[in-house]
Amino acid sequence: MRYISTRGRLETKTSAQAILQGLAKDKGLFVPVEIPKFHKDLSYMKGMDYKEIALEVLSKYLTDYTEEELKDCIQKAYDEKFEESEIVPIANKGGAFFLELYHGKTAAFKDMALSILPHLLTKAMKKENEDKKIVILAATSGDTGKAALEGFADVDNTEIIVFFPEDGVSEIQKQQMVTQAGGNTHVFGIKGNFDDAQTGVKKIFNDNKLNEDFEKKGIKLSSANSINPGRLIPQIVYYVYAYVKLLERGEIQNGESINVAVPTGNFGNILSAYYAKHMGVPINKLICASNKNKVLTDFINTGIYDTKREFYVTNSPSMDILISSNLERLLYHLSGQNDAVIDKLMDDLEREKRYVVDDTVRQSLHSFYAGYAEEDETLSTIKDMYLEHGYLMDTHTAVGYHVYKRYLAETGDKTKTVIASTASPYKFTNSVMQAILPEARGNEFELLNKMNEITGVRIPKGLKDIDKLPVRHKKVIQKEEMKSTIEEIL
Ligand SMILES: *Cc1c(COP(=O)(O)O)cnc(C)c1O
Repeated sequence: MRYISTRGRLETKTSAQAILQGLAKDKGLFVPVEIPKFHKDLSYMKGMDYKEIALEVLSKYLTDYTEEELKDCIQKAYDEKFEESEIVPIANKGGAFFLELYHGKTAAFKDMALSILPHLLTKAMKKENEDKKIVILAATSGDTGKAALEGFADVDNTEIIVFFPEDGVSEIQKQQMVTQAGGNTHVFGIKGNFDDAQTGVKKIFNDNKLNEDFEKKGIKLSSANSINPGRLIPQIVYYVYAYVKLLERGEIQNGESINVAVPTGNFGNILSAYYAKHMGVPINKLICASNKNKVLTDFINTGIYDTKREFYVTNSPSMDILISSNLERLLYHLSGQNDAVIDKLMDDLEREKRYVVDDTVRQSLHSFYAGYAEEDETLSTIKDMYLEHGYLMDTHTAVGYHVYKRYLAETGDKTKTVIASTASPYKFTNSVMQAILPEARGNEFELLNKMNEITGVRIPKGLKDIDKLPVRHKKVIQKEEMKSTIEEIL
């Protein structure tokens, strides 16, 4: 399997090279030259556990890794760090199947890929005889940052630098990041939003002069964001896993289609579901759920991607994004791998902050359904689910479920549906408590314990007593200072 840039100007790479580099040198993103297929129906995986299914999927994409290498990465990634032995439990509540992706160390779905990425990367360094220090840059809307820090803390020959929007994450998300231990970890709040952080990081990757200077000093930059194919590929696993488990439980018949609903920000998670579908997992609709920053809803419904709009800080902050990077990959596939089309669209985006796709691409967007949730709809969805079924969702998952319910009401489509449940409700305690017990008072850390008393839902290990940890990273910078900050550290 080779990887090519969506802007098409460069030769193809192996997966190890693409993972090491993170972002292509022509500003494009790496995609597999073709999406590999399961050549038999998925029932052969019945009885396999998460790790075994991970091997089935990863070995189709990471063909330059040996089976032993992949097994080793998988073993190290999906171990006791996960608080549930199944790794990803599936809860059948309120007429949908919740794929709980948040039982890893940092209590959000980012752990699914970032638990394995450091192992894939260190193996890639060996394979490519890379003797430079790898510096991971990450922009985060709240969850990638902590998951990447945990994954890379004290990993030999690496350094990790994270930028988060100072006023755009929950108190708990922030506390998780600023208390991070590890001799190679660096964390900065920026005065700006996630888009500013991600644009800043991409600029640094595309700064040839800077990268040459770093090369001379024995430093190579890479990415922990979903622009790195090493993030996307491990995320395909859990959609295959979900299908196999529903089959095993007799919830669906072999070959029967399911829908998948994904609360979406940077379009990484739902793109992984798209890959799963094209590998042969019977998926009918991909339901793309947004919050009030509904640029993707409008795009899927009109073919016009327009970022010239107000930016909102919402109660689902990990999806407060207007520039969804991974959409570039989808457009590349939908346009028949046409890099000239992508070049033009991304150029329009950079210059005019918007683009319009042609009719062919627009037609092919019909495999998606898109909708969004207002702030109060998110909260009432959490409340209703809790009161009616005793099941506690976080705000992002609630956005996904809300949009699924709207889809159901509009279409009457009774296809069994899997909701990507992306975070523990304890990461967004303020909002979840506001939904289920608005009269409760206290700061986010006090509410955490109160929520536990009321609901009996276990607090994730990584969040217990997090307010008592020493703050190690205190710096807040302007968004223009990202480059100089990195130069200073390195
Ligand atoms: C990152 C994140 C999302 C959005 O995922 P994308 O891959 O960026 O679309 C949704 N929910 C939570 C909790 C997240 O951390």
